[in-house]
Amino acid sequence: MGSAAEFVPSSAMAIVAHPDDIEFGCAGTCAKWAKRGARIVYVLVTSGNSGSQDPSLTREALAELREREQRAAAAICGVREIEFLRYNDGEVMPTLELRKDLVRLIRKHKPEVVIALDPTRMYDGDDYINHPDHRAVAIATMDAVAPIAAMPLLYPELGPAHQVREVWIQWVDDPNTWVDISETLELKIQALLQHRSQVGEEVAERVRQWAYQAGRGLVPAEAFKVIFLKKREPERSAHPE
Ligand SMILES: [Zn+2]
Repeated sequence: MGSAAEFVPSSAMAIVAHPDDIEFGCAGTCAKWAKRGARIVYVLVTSGNSGSQDPSLTREALAELREREQRAAAAICGVREIEFLRYNDGEVMPTLELRKDLVRLIRKHKPEVVIALDPTRMYDGDDYINHPDHRAVAIATMDAVAPIAAMPLLYPELGPAHQVREVWIQWVDDPNTWVDISETLELKIQALLQHRSQVGEEVAERVRQWAYQAGRGLVPAEAFKVIFLKKREPERSAHPE
């Protein structure tokens, strides 16, 4: 788990496709950072308005329900700021429009770290094809972060240029950073269970197992591939508890 894993950013923005992507991915890390004073913002590109088999729900009602679930999940992890972009679930493309929406939010909140989905992930093992919204949001996120958000001549109407220092990619095959989430694993599970329209109690054990797998059986962890766009100042690497 190296000392680099104890780095805590002053601020972070997690950009995902659906309510529950953060809770399955990085909520343990977000909760840990929030506890240590980091300002965390969640960006939800869709409100999951197609994610139900229940024919009695309209897409509007489902979006409302899932935004409520997402707010409850965020609150458990100490995260109060959520931006909902309300694209249609299942129809997200890495368009210029989405890229500009993300540039606007990055310039507004000025995160030191952006947590992103993996733009290279098309499938996982031999039984899962990655959701197209995950890929589309991941590509738009990368494009927005580097270099567009940092270029003052591009879209000055979207706010002053901002350089994100690090991109932390979740759900990767080649992690280079592990965050020990011993102290926040139960928060992560409680947060995930807020998505009642999506998951049942049985998910808790699965998430616990994944966390111990990620931490190689030693501690529960979340794994990331971190891209350092700016070199970390040495004194920031080992953050005092
Ligand atoms: Zn998703």
